[in-house]
Amino acid sequence: MLKVFSIIQTYPIVLTFNGDDFDLPYLYARAQDPSIDPVSKKPIKKEEIPILVKKDSFMKRGIQADPVSLKYGIHIDLYRTFQNRSVQNYAFSHKYSEFTLNAICEALLNESKIDFEGSISDLPLEKLSEYCLKDADLTFRLTSFNDNLLMKLLIIISRISRMSIEDITRFGVNQWIRSMMFFEHRQQNILIPRREELQKKGTSSTLAIIKEKKYRGGLVVEPVLGIHFNVVVVDFASLYPSIIKVHNLSYETVNCPHEICRNDQSMHIDQTNHWVCKEKRGLTSILIGTLRDLRVNYYKNLSKDTTLNKEDKHLYSVISQAIKVILNATYGVMGAEIFPLYCLPVAEATAAIGRITTTKTIEKCNENNIKVVYGDTDSLFLKNPSHEGLNTISSWAKKSLGIDLEIDKQYRYVVFSDLKKNYLGVLEDGTVDVKGLTGKKSHTPPIIRYAFYDILNVLKEVFSENDFEKAKEKIKKIVQSIAENLENKKISLDELSFNVMINKSPDSYGIKTVEKRPDKSKSLDGKEKDIGNVKGIPQHIKAAKQLVEIGKQVKMGDIISYVKTRTIDGVKPVALANQMDIDTEKYLETMESTFDQILSSLNLNFKSIIGKPRQANLDELFWN
Ligand SMILES: [Zn+2]
Repeated sequence: MLKVFSIIQTYPIVLTFNGDDFDLPYLYARAQDPSIDPVSKKPIKKEEIPILVKKDSFMKRGIQADPVSLKYGIHIDLYRTFQNRSVQNYAFSHKYSEFTLNAICEALLNESKIDFEGSISDLPLEKLSEYCLKDADLTFRLTSFNDNLLMKLLIIISRISRMSIEDITRFGVNQWIRSMMFFEHRQQNILIPRREELQKKGTSSTLAIIKEKKYRGGLVVEPVLGIHFNVVVVDFASLYPSIIKVHNLSYETVNCPHEICRNDQSMHIDQTNHWVCKEKRGLTSILIGTLRDLRVNYYKNLSKDTTLNKEDKHLYSVISQAIKVILNATYGVMGAEIFPLYCLPVAEATAAIGRITTTKTIEKCNENNIKVVYGDTDSLFLKNPSHEGLNTISSWAKKSLGIDLEIDKQYRYVVFSDLKKNYLGVLEDGTVDVKGLTGKKSHTPPIIRYAFYDILNVLKEVFSENDFEKAKEKIKKIVQSIAENLENKKISLDELSFNVMINKSPDSYGIKTVEKRPDKSKSLDGKEKDIGNVKGIPQHIKAAKQLVEIGKQVKMGDIISYVKTRTIDGVKPVALANQMDIDTEKYLETMESTFDQILSSLNLNFKSIIGKPRQANLDELFWN
């Protein structure tokens, strides 16, 4: 323990994954245990423990667990940092959706934790240390990958928001913006308004379309169903921050006390009852506008400057990204009650001007014979626009709206389906982009996995409407032929096999009821690992046990190939199964869940393709 403590003391920053809730309090508690020294029977002296467990102080500030700090140095708990919505969505573009160390590492580093089954306290010491070392390495690399991207982001955000790194990594973006704005108030000797004072600014004057919202949000243009070729997606760069800047929006300028402003019809905001001040510049507008200009006019250009070296360019692009993370949240916090400068009229005015901006841009597109096939808040899907057309629109937007319109991506074609609220697009290079498409699972049997790639390839080969109709037929045939071959037992067992590695001797599953894991053996990243032993014995272990029963040796590290069967166990090892055992329905289910997202975006239904009745749908029953 003393050795561990002395090592911790040598680092300026200590990274953990769930260290607030597990690693550091655990070390602290161990050091306080008198049995830690069997000779003296005394705990380690407090001054020799580098860990500070601060109770209460942080609880009052509204976070669930107490952060744990170090006496000398900074403790960053990445478990908390990666749960930050802005870090998840804007810094890492929603590449991970679960907050376990494993899920985040698979998404960002393309690497996994060491897998094991059962309880961590049963691991032999050597395995345990291997497991821990790997965890430590992964945790470190979450900040070091891509030229220390995360550390750089955190330091830049800490500077912009005037908050310590320990706080940045534990609080949400609304706290970052709060700190940044309070600092600016103090800097300029401005009193920070009280909540009651801000409430006097009035409430919303528009009706929310989404139930949970208090006012009307961004404009959504219903998609034109069907297939569209050569679709260019354009984005308004930082739409809301630009509006806040251009239209002088701030809590003190919206519905300002001046008669002259209230009576000036040109200062009123369309679609609302609010007006804006023409006498004074608002603090929020200046601050957000400055950040926006710094990003758009300075750091973004530097990040693309070919005269700079690679390192500098990377740094500038990280700064630009960090500013974007904060800018993206500014509009949202104005309309969020937990934000201390919450002011509904400001949020409402911003959204209203946003809708007007989008509507005006669509009108301008129509004037220039550019068809808008879909739109959502700050992006528009334009069908087959000419170069000149795009240039006209973007210079018009810059000049008359003060907003930059940028090309986000270019699809060879996009399909809008009425089956689901999703779309499928194929980019110029043939990449298939399906909104909400879940990744392929490595456990999926080869026959289904390869069919999935076949379908993507068919979609890549589409260059015309005619191709598309043919492609749909091809895709139907791919799905149908697997289903038929399944029914006729024509698919080899190897092609149907699920292949899963075994990490624990099957003997240890020789118990009928599954033990509930005691608390202390919670896996090291603090999240219960779903290893199947909650619901029962995992399928590959069931298969492994059948192999053991006929005298085969099964050891850790072996890959068990099994198929889903209609037998009592529901599975059989490939070596023991025959075609008649195969549970066709189970395979159809796996197929449906793998293909559904793609099929529905093509307006195809899995069950009708394979000739099974669709699930009862009242509408359909009635109209057909
Ligand atoms: Zn005024």
